[in-house]
Amino acid sequence: MAEIDIDLIQQAKNQLGIKAAEIIAIGLNIEKWDTRNLKGLCPFHNEKTPSFIWNKKNNHFKCFGCGETIDIIDYYMKTGLTFREATKELFDETNTSYDDDIIPRPETKENKPYIQPKVIEEIATGKAKSYLELRKISEDTIRYAGVKEDDKGNIAFEYYDNKDRLMLTKYRPSRKIKKGENKTWCQKGADTSPILYGMHQVDITKPLLICEGEIDRLAAIESGFKNTVSVPFGAENFHWIDHNWDWLENFKEIIIWSDNDPAGERMRREVVPRLGEYRTKYVKSNYEDINIQLYKAGKESVINSIRNAKEIPIKNVIRMADVEDYNIQDMEKIRSGLNGLDKFIAGWFLGSVNVITGINGSGKSTFINQVCVCEAVEQGYKTFIMSGELTNRQLRNWIEFPMAGKENITTVDNGSNAPKTHYVNKDTKKQMREWYKDDVYFYDNNLDYTASSILKKMEELARRNGVKVFLLDNLMTIDLECNQYELNRKQKEFVKELVIFAQKYNAVVHLVAHPRKTEMIQRLSKMDVAGSGDITNLAHYVTAIHRVTDKEKEDKLNKIGDVVEEGCPFDCIIDLFKNRPLGHQDKSVGVQYDMASKRFYGQSDDINKNYSWVKLNVPEGFQITTEDSPF
Ligand SMILES: [Zn+2]
Repeated sequence: MAEIDIDLIQQAKNQLGIKAAEIIAIGLNIEKWDTRNLKGLCPFHNEKTPSFIWNKKNNHFKCFGCGETIDIIDYYMKTGLTFREATKELFDETNTSYDDDIIPRPETKENKPYIQPKVIEEIATGKAKSYLELRKISEDTIRYAGVKEDDKGNIAFEYYDNKDRLMLTKYRPSRKIKKGENKTWCQKGADTSPILYGMHQVDITKPLLICEGEIDRLAAIESGFKNTVSVPFGAENFHWIDHNWDWLENFKEIIIWSDNDPAGERMRREVVPRLGEYRTKYVKSNYEDINIQLYKAGKESVINSIRNAKEIPIKNVIRMADVEDYNIQDMEKIRSGLNGLDKFIAGWFLGSVNVITGINGSGKSTFINQVCVCEAVEQGYKTFIMSGELTNRQLRNWIEFPMAGKENITTVDNGSNAPKTHYVNKDTKKQMREWYKDDVYFYDNNLDYTASSILKKMEELARRNGVKVFLLDNLMTIDLECNQYELNRKQKEFVKELVIFAQKYNAVVHLVAHPRKTEMIQRLSKMDVAGSGDITNLAHYVTAIHRVTDKEKEDKLNKIGDVVEEGCPFDCIIDLFKNRPLGHQDKSVGVQYDMASKRFYGQSDDINKNYSWVKLNVPEGFQITTEDSPF
C-alpha cells in the first residue's frame, strides 16, 4: 500500500456496514448488547440504560450520554495498531484489494541510506513514567503512545512516519527543566527527519490537532483527543510543513494549539495561512499549554477547548479590542545590508510591498540582486524571483557576482581595445550553490507570465516552502490579461493583490516598475513611476535608483574657475520616496559601485563583506555545472 486512499477507506467502511458494530461490541465487551437495535451500555462512562448506539449512516457508535464516538478504525487502533495497520485490517476484513508494495527505504539528501534510530523495546516504567504521571499523563496514555525510557531514566519519544518507519527519536530529562537548559536532544548517530510526533496513529479522515510539544500531545490523548501530533523542533521551526506536505493535504480540518506565549502566537500566525485558512482553526486558551490546562482544569476543559477551536474570521470587521498589538520594535524586518539605507528604514518590514523604479541602466536590477536576494538569504529568508527580461542562467550569473564578493572574482584584462571582463571563481560557485540551494527559487515558465499564474506560484511557495521574499522584475513584463484601456485598473488590482498577499503570508514583495519616460536621465520623483498612480499609493515603500552621470560628478565652476557647487561624490543615489511603516519620506542615500563584484557599498559598508557561504564545507562529490561561465 503506497499511499492510503481515503475513498477506498470509505468504500470499505460502507461495505463492512453493521458487521463493524458486532466486531466492536464484542471487542469492547459491551454490556446489555442489543443485536437488533445495535445498542448497549457505553464503555466510556457509567450508565444504566443503553445510550451507546450504532449509526448506520456514519458507520460509528455514538454515545448520547457522554458524546464519545468510535468507528472500526478507532477500534483497531485502540487494540494497538497504527493507522496504516488498522486500514489494512479493514481492507482484509472486506476483501478490498490494495497494492501492498514494498516500502522503499527513506533516502537522505546526499543519496546515502537513511540511518534510522534504534528502537527501544520497553515502554517507560521507571523515572519517565513517574514524572509523566506527576504531569497527569496516565499509564494507559504512555502505553497507547508508546513512550519509552533510556537507561538513564530520560523520556524517549519515538517519531514514526505514516508508513510506520521510525525516523527520529527525541529525549528529554524526566524532571522539571531549568530555564535556559538544553531541553531536548536527538538520538546520536541517527538521522533526523522533521516528521510529526504521532502521525502513525492519526486517522487522516478525521480532524487533526497540531500542538507544540510531545507532552502536549500526550495531554490531548489523555483528555480523549487521540488524533493529535506535535511539531518536531519547537514553535519556531517550520520545516515540517514542506516535509509532510502531501500527508497534511489529506485533512479537511486542522486545529492548531500552540503555547500561550509570543513564540506560540507567532507559530499560529505562520502556520494557519500556510495550511490554508479555509480548513484551519486554532485554540486560544488562557493556560500556558495543553499539559498545564489538563493539570489545572482537567480533561473535559481540554476537550472543550478543542471543540471550541476558533475559525479564522472571514468577516470584514474586527473588534478594536481584538486587534493584535502593533509594536514597531518587535516587528520582523529584513535589513538591506546597506547601513546608510537601514538607518532610515531599519529594514523592510514583513507584510509590505516595495516598489522599485529607475531608468534603464540605473542599476536597479543590480540593487535587487544584492540587497533583496543576497542579504535576504544571509538573514535566513527564502527568496523567489520572477524576471521577465533575463533567462534563468543569466539571472543566476548576475546574482552570484555580489554574492561572491570582490576577493572571489577574477578580472581579465582583454587588452586596450576591449573592456575588462570578470568571472566568479569555480570553487566559490561550488560553495555558494551548496549554501543557497534550498533558499532561492526562480519562476520557470517561459510561456506563461500572466499575473494569475505568477501569484499562484507565489502562494504555493509561501505556503509550502515558507518563502518570505518575492521579487517581481518587472511589472511591465507581467501579463495582466487585458487591453491597454484597462491597464491602469488592472495594475491597481494586481498591486492590491500583492499587498494582501504580503500581509497574509507576512512576506516582503519587491515590485520593479519602470519610470514613465525612459529617455530622461535626471533624478526621478514618485510621480514618475509609470502606470496608475495607485501603484505608489498602495505600496508601503517607493524606492528609486539613480545612476549619477559624469556631468553630475563634475564640480560646477564659475567664470573665473572657482568651484560654486561640488560634484556628486557618489556612483548611485538611492531615493526613498515613501516609507509608510516609519512614516517619513524623501530620504536619499549615496553609494559607490564596484564594477567587478556588481556590489553597492556606502561609506560605512565593507565592500569585502563575506556572506556565510564562506563558512560552509562542501560535501565531496558535489558537482557543479559550469555552462554559464562567461568564458
Ligand atoms: Zn458514554
